Amino acid sequence: MALIVQKFGGTSVGTVERIEQVAEKVKKFRDGGDDIVVVVSAMSGETNRLIDLAKQISDQPVPRELDVMVSTGEQVTIALLAMALIKRGVPAVSYTGNQVRILTDSAHTKARILQIDAQRIQRDIKAGRVVVVAGFQGVDEKGNITTLGRGGSDTTGVALAAALKADECQIYTDVDGVYTTDPRVVAKAQRLDKITFEEMLEMASLGSKVLQIRAVEFAGKYSVPLRVLHSFQEGPGTLITLDEEESMEQPIISGIAFNRDEAKLTIRGVPDTPGVAFKILGPISAANVEVDMIVQNVAHDNTTDFTFTVHRNDYNNALQVLQSIANEMGAREVIGDTDIAKVSIVGVGMRSHAGVASRMFEALAKENINIQMISTSEIKVSVVIEEKYLELAVRALHTAFELDAPTAGNTAE
Ligand code: ASP
Ligand code: MG
Repeated sequence: MALIVQKFGGTSVGTVERIEQVAEKVKKFRDGGDDIVVVVSAMSGETNRLIDLAKQISDQPVPRELDVMVSTGEQVTIALLAMALIKRGVPAVSYTGNQVRILTDSAHTKARILQIDAQRIQRDIKAGRVVVVAGFQGVDEKGNITTLGRGGSDTTGVALAAALKADECQIYTDVDGVYTTDPRVVAKAQRLDKITFEEMLEMASLGSKVLQIRAVEFAGKYSVPLRVLHSFQEGPGTLITLDEEESMEQPIISGIAFNRDEAKLTIRGVPDTPGVAFKILGPISAANVEVDMIVQNVAHDNTTDFTFTVHRNDYNNALQVLQSIANEMGAREVIGDTDIAKVSIVGVGMRSHAGVASRMFEALAKENINIQMISTSEIKVSVVIEEKYLELAVRALHTAFELDAPTAGNTAE
């Protein structure tokens, strides 16, 4: 008998029929002897609908009041699911974040969980009840309702699993696991049986949207075994684990992530003196712009070219700041480019294998794709390329690192 926390996302509880299906699923686990705590999101589209309502009153709704409102989405689904369980003869009880006492800080719309009172839930479990908890919300010390940021129900699920020392946290969603890359780009993408927290974190930060990044961080920190599964299809899903040993048999690269949301800025002909990087990037960070990749190159005439990437939303802002820096420093020119994309290969296997980066560059060279920037970490190599070659690059790398499914269309179902 195990204690399992099961989190169901918005599409899994998007209609009353689906909520009934979720209830069937929960009942099956419970009939099998497991203790179950369920965390649910709002019905799909509901959180957006609520935010739109608020925006009709004000462009910048008061965060405290926004939280009071958007937290209602989850309050509806917990009650509906509890009703559906009780109708099936499964004793169940629903709680809001406040009722559990999921204590957070007071950073409305992006609060962090500080502490979870597990006692009440434990009493219910002992009494044989399935406990249904509202995701995405908590309460601060003063009793104000808070929310955890978009996609925050994943974090609620993981945090509850940690607090209850659950055997597993299962994230049910509309895909049947984590894939080697986006199956919409590569038809031969495969579901991974296992991936490490570290790799998952890289994949999530690089644009794979299966799990909220914070939830993965939390799960890694507290060693909560995490599994991503399809809500309505049977299957083992993907286990996210600490264990690198067991993935030794797997390919060197676990996945290929990509990101279209970046833009590139270059300041050329800057006098090459100590403090240049700081003079350029200081004002950029003061303007609240996050910098991703950085490349600096020294020319023969003792000037330097300095290139970096930012989120595309920050591009205009960064360009303005850079132009005024260029004037001050007497730089030759400022160039910007938004038609770029970042492609990354991710895998803990890189630690023990040489030549991974050059294999990547070879695959891109074969397709005549020009690499504009490169950055590496212990378990990742990223390149910036022209956006129009993105899909070609991802497919070429997927093949080069032997990630293609044996027969096309076999696994992507
Ligand atoms: N309902 C919230 C959102 O849409 C939280 C979640 O679904 O995880 O962001
Ligand atoms: Mg979600």
